[in-house]
Amino acid sequence: MVNYGIDIWGKENFTVKDGLVCINEGSKPSLVEITQEIRNSGIRGPIILRFPHLIGKQIENLYSNFTRAIDENGYQGSFNAVFPLKVNQYPQAVNSIIKYGAAYNYGLEAGSKAELILAIAQTPLGSPITVNGFKDTEMTTLCFMAAQMGHNITVTLEGIGELESIIEVANNTNLKIPQIGIRIRLHSSGSGTWAKSGGMDAKFGLTATELIEAIHLLKKHRLIKNFSMIHFHIGSQMEEIAPLKKALREAGNIYAELKHMGADGLQAINIGGGLAVEYAQNKQQCLRNYSLEEFTNDVIYVLREIMNAKGVEHPNIFTESGRYIVASHAVLITPVLELFSQDYQEKSLHFSEENPPLIEELRELNTLLARKNCIEYMHDALDHLESLFTLFDLGYITLQDRSNAEILVHQIIKKSLRMMRGTPTLELTRLQDRLQERYLINSSIFQSMPDYWGLQQHFPVMPLNKLNEPAIRAASLWDITCDSDGEIQFDPEAPLYLHDVDLDEEEYFLAFFNIGAYQETLGMNHNLFTHPNECSIDLTEDGFKLRNIEESQNILEILDDIGYDKDQILIQLKNNLANSHFTTVEEKSDTLQKLELYLYQNGYLRTTK
Ligand SMILES: *Cc1c(COP(=O)(O)O)cnc(C)c1O
Repeated sequence: MVNYGIDIWGKENFTVKDGLVCINEGSKPSLVEITQEIRNSGIRGPIILRFPHLIGKQIENLYSNFTRAIDENGYQGSFNAVFPLKVNQYPQAVNSIIKYGAAYNYGLEAGSKAELILAIAQTPLGSPITVNGFKDTEMTTLCFMAAQMGHNITVTLEGIGELESIIEVANNTNLKIPQIGIRIRLHSSGSGTWAKSGGMDAKFGLTATELIEAIHLLKKHRLIKNFSMIHFHIGSQMEEIAPLKKALREAGNIYAELKHMGADGLQAINIGGGLAVEYAQNKQQCLRNYSLEEFTNDVIYVLREIMNAKGVEHPNIFTESGRYIVASHAVLITPVLELFSQDYQEKSLHFSEENPPLIEELRELNTLLARKNCIEYMHDALDHLESLFTLFDLGYITLQDRSNAEILVHQIIKKSLRMMRGTPTLELTRLQDRLQERYLINSSIFQSMPDYWGLQQHFPVMPLNKLNEPAIRAASLWDITCDSDGEIQFDPEAPLYLHDVDLDEEEYFLAFFNIGAYQETLGMNHNLFTHPNECSIDLTEDGFKLRNIEESQNILEILDDIGYDKDQILIQLKNNLANSHFTTVEEKSDTLQKLELYLYQNGYLRTTK
């Protein structure tokens, strides 16, 4: 995995140039220079880099592919899309969505009261807003208010009970009635981890019987003209196309049946989200079995065929893809703080005048190691190490002897790996994988990649630099939380190889890609590590410009957030210091200053320069 699968998950968004990961756009600046520039402003800890142009690219892909499929199939309906806010509500992401979506009339989807307020405030008038999720009368009223303001808003009923609340608000106010959508419960369900949104036992949606009842109620209360959309969503990260086609056939037939039952205002099918993102780093593990072209062709073709067969006008199509739109725009940069076997370095060897014979032998093996003998010598070294451990347990050698032995054996293995680089033996590969070097990264998996913790979702990861140097250390990644789940391990069949770096001499950063969907608000403040630093990067003709650098919350803010009075905490700490013993007044004031500095910094580690 020389380029870390960048051509698989990277979709030409990123490229490797002169050993550096670069943005594949404009003057192709490297991620390491962007990271350094942000760190030059004093920021330490993990950084989310946002690339608005990648949001623009995905929106453009979505619309152009549907437009193409519509043209090619002579489809009569229009294509429309909304962005589901639950996938990323952060302002820097949403602002880019609004900006790049404006040309397409791209709208927003809300699933809670807070998201609805955001959608009403941010969606340009005329662009669609759809509202899903469970609602009370208050939330329904908010939808009426939005309609009154001139918004093109559709409230989707998740259950028949919500229709009563719409009828109630319609009867009791003079507000404009929004358009009404109905989530249908499909018997065909999705596939993959997130498939619980579809199927007969789904959490949402009306059954066939409830649909018929809803039509009667809508007619009775003269709301049938407002009923404009049916909706389904078969689950996120839909890795196979077959379940979608099945769901489309079912939904298409329901649509046609409802039209025949006199749903005259009905004009749209909302196919929800679910378009998958490729997270795999090697070909064998590719997840998605279809392209966007295939997806759009299928949607248009299946719906056209059903409507033509049943003599119904082609419906307008809505999608609510979220993951597909924003996953690629965010990259998490994490500084590496430590390599745990970093201590196994030549400079830590300390021999005496006279050393145990086995140690002397290890020294000799280490000196004489060459490509033609390295496997044999490595076997001898491992053998000697076992014996030396036994000697230590029996009290015959010193702690210094033991340390020398461990360092020498590590040296021998590392050198052998390097010598055999082009032609590693199975044993060597296994040994390497077993000796997975632990790289300590300055971030929290719980905060920044909660789906790894909760769903074992892997995110593509690679170093920012040194890509033209051999990476020979099979790695596992440890975060800085005090939780044993805070580790990312790699399949021994598909290890992650990183570089052997001396962090006293140079910095080393790892980047996690495709983290722009779902991770940010799902992330949790375990150990009180909060949302990372973030920054948007605009590409210019000759480079890049940093915009909206937001530093991660400082320590006092973190405590304040969970309900402590930060002033109280500050006073308490200052009092404790004031009452403690110092020899000089300067010492006391220096310590106070330091304390204040620490409290106003973010909670991540600051050991790197
Ligand atoms: C979550 C959700 C989406 C977004 O799904 P993606 O897989 O991110 O595209 C769309 N529609 C509804 C109703 C959802 O709940």
